[in-house]
Amino acid sequence: MKLTILGCYAATPRTITNPTSQVLEIKNRLFLIDCGEGTQVQLRKNKIKFSKINHIFISHLHGDHFFGLIGTISTFALLGRTADLHIYGPKGVKEIITLQLRLSNSWTTYDLFFHELESDKSEVIFEDNRVIVKTIPLKHRVYTNGFLFQEKPAERKLNVDAVQQYGIHTAYYQKIKNGGNVTLDDGTVIENEKLSFDPIAPMSYAFCSDTVYNEAVIPIIENVDVLYHESTFLESEAPLALKTLHSTAKEAATIALKANAKQLILGHYSTRYDGIERFKEEAETIFPNVLLGDDGRSFEF
Ligand SMILES: [Zn+2]
Ligand SMILES: [Zn+2]
Repeated sequence: MKLTILGCYAATPRTITNPTSQVLEIKNRLFLIDCGEGTQVQLRKNKIKFSKINHIFISHLHGDHFFGLIGTISTFALLGRTADLHIYGPKGVKEIITLQLRLSNSWTTYDLFFHELESDKSEVIFEDNRVIVKTIPLKHRVYTNGFLFQEKPAERKLNVDAVQQYGIHTAYYQKIKNGGNVTLDDGTVIENEKLSFDPIAPMSYAFCSDTVYNEAVIPIIENVDVLYHESTFLESEAPLALKTLHSTAKEAATIALKANAKQLILGHYSTRYDGIERFKEEAETIFPNVLLGDDGRSFEF
């Protein structure tokens, strides 16, 4: 998986920072997560091909997470896109976007599919042969979901030396890759473990922004490889975090620890602070593996 942070600061866009948006690449598929103002410019700066984006996930309808959506949809049309575009987001997102398209009489050159969300329980919203995406219901001032992206397990790897040694016909190779045993002509059963190697373990990524500290997410994201969790505030603003239904860096780290995440990436920093190093320092008092998200920064895992 490769995660590219296009923007990870709260509220207002500035010349030096952008509101929330990120691109997750999984096995050659690109998923756009949130689409704050300026997302298409950030996509260009980070050399991400517009045509490769077919699925956009919107966490909630606060401006810093979706005000770039109509612009992005519109630009896709101006570029002559014909491929379908799927948008997953809170109920209402279809009304907002179609109102703008209708009043500007600028319908898209491609088919737009809206998958509106309103459940307060985790649900599967996307699935193909490589990836599955589930919602992570969050607690914020408006209806909000995070998203859990899980790779599907790959096929087992053929042990070429072993299959040749046993003289196994190529017709059995796919069965072996699928985990099956092979029965030889003399009736001997060769266990799959002797004929194949474990595949690379599937990775998972959880995106949790925006939310107040909420332990209800823990069972959904348990053992996740990488957790992006918002940390709008430092400990000094903990009461403000609670009041505005956001999290502190320490709270993000506590969720990572309790969910047994392997890696935490912080983001959605309030623009009131001069730098972001202190977010890492405070989070590391709770959880050891902390990385700072920042605009234009990529992570491969
Ligand atoms: Zn926000
Ligand atoms: Zn918000």
